[in-house]
Amino acid sequence: MALSTRNVERAVARVDVGAVEGNCRRLRSVLRAGAELCAVVKADGYGHGMVPCAEAARAGGATWLATATVGEAAELRAAGLVGPILVQGALTPEEAQLALEAGADVVAWREGFVRHLAEVAGELESVGRVHVKLDTGMGRLGTFDPEEARRVADLAAGDPRLALIGAMTHFATADEPGDEHFPAQLERFAAFADGLRAAHPGVIAHAANSAATFRDPAAHLDMVRCGVAVYGLDPFQGDPAERGLEPALTLETYVAAVKRFEPGTSAGYGRTWTAGGATTVGVLPIGYGDGWRRGLSNRAEVLVEGRRRPLVGTVSMDNLTVDLGPDAETVEGEPAVLIGAQGSERILCEEVARHLATINYEVTCGLSARVRRTYA
Ligand SMILES: *Cc1c(COP(=O)(O)O)cnc(C)c1O
Repeated sequence: MALSTRNVERAVARVDVGAVEGNCRRLRSVLRAGAELCAVVKADGYGHGMVPCAEAARAGGATWLATATVGEAAELRAAGLVGPILVQGALTPEEAQLALEAGADVVAWREGFVRHLAEVAGELESVGRVHVKLDTGMGRLGTFDPEEARRVADLAAGDPRLALIGAMTHFATADEPGDEHFPAQLERFAAFADGLRAAHPGVIAHAANSAATFRDPAAHLDMVRCGVAVYGLDPFQGDPAERGLEPALTLETYVAAVKRFEPGTSAGYGRTWTAGGATTVGVLPIGYGDGWRRGLSNRAEVLVEGRRRPLVGTVSMDNLTVDLGPDAETVEGEPAVLIGAQGSERILCEEVARHLATINYEVTCGLSARVRRTYA
């Protein structure tokens, strides 16, 4: 059978930057008056491509950007992105220097780190912009002790080589509506931020991730830090459309081979699937080497010709197989969609995540560098 002349590609993630922009507008529309949107673009924009998504987020009204690492911040600067960038992760002394060189804001919760930062800023003849982090119950970065956080903040505010810009915390359970930990964290942080801002007017308080932004306007404070929702993924693992979000990513491949299977013919390593009756199997040249996880073997569905078809057999590194059914007339070269819409059908990232007992974040972050990203 001849390869159809369709414009297909082995494995491509088509990223709709207009959707990213629209999602940012949507997020801004739910914010309390005066609250700013910081778009979190770490981990290559949750696998979507950092720079194009950062640009789209800016166009959609995000006034801040946030990364996890200093390398990410430097990459944004190299691409010409201006405006505040917050590096949210822990920094080695060397990384702290690189952050200042990139003109990025950093997070601090120890006085020793702040002193180091001041020295580096002095040497660079720049001003180190600091956000103090209180751990109100995430049990990760930041200090549990509000007095230590206050000393760190006072130190930054009192040193001419530094500027105290913000106070922050991070929620552990914002995506679990009804739990009692979230309001307790918010209360602890609000008490700290109120005291801090009384002493240092103009310091911005920020706490909310995407889930918190939708869950409680009281958590918006001066700024929200949204990641997952920017990409049109649902922070609650439901349907993004219910929150007015549009998924930005489509993962596409094509049917490279179409074969008739007689009853008893098996597909793939370990023969985990065997045709019960005569059927047609399509081979898609994408696999766990692309981040389409092996755990999806005999679980996921794939869109071919606008219809859902079951992924059958074990996902290999570079190929997988789908049962196209006994009457299939699918031609080789037909496009296939693993995440996204085709015709009137749509496979959400949240659905793929459920098959893997994980979250949408991990599905898009896991798409490997071998998957080309395109932007439209
Ligand atoms: C990743 C991250 C965010 C964004 O979280 P989402 O759930 O993707 O909105 C916000 N704040 C911090 C500190 C983070 O690490």
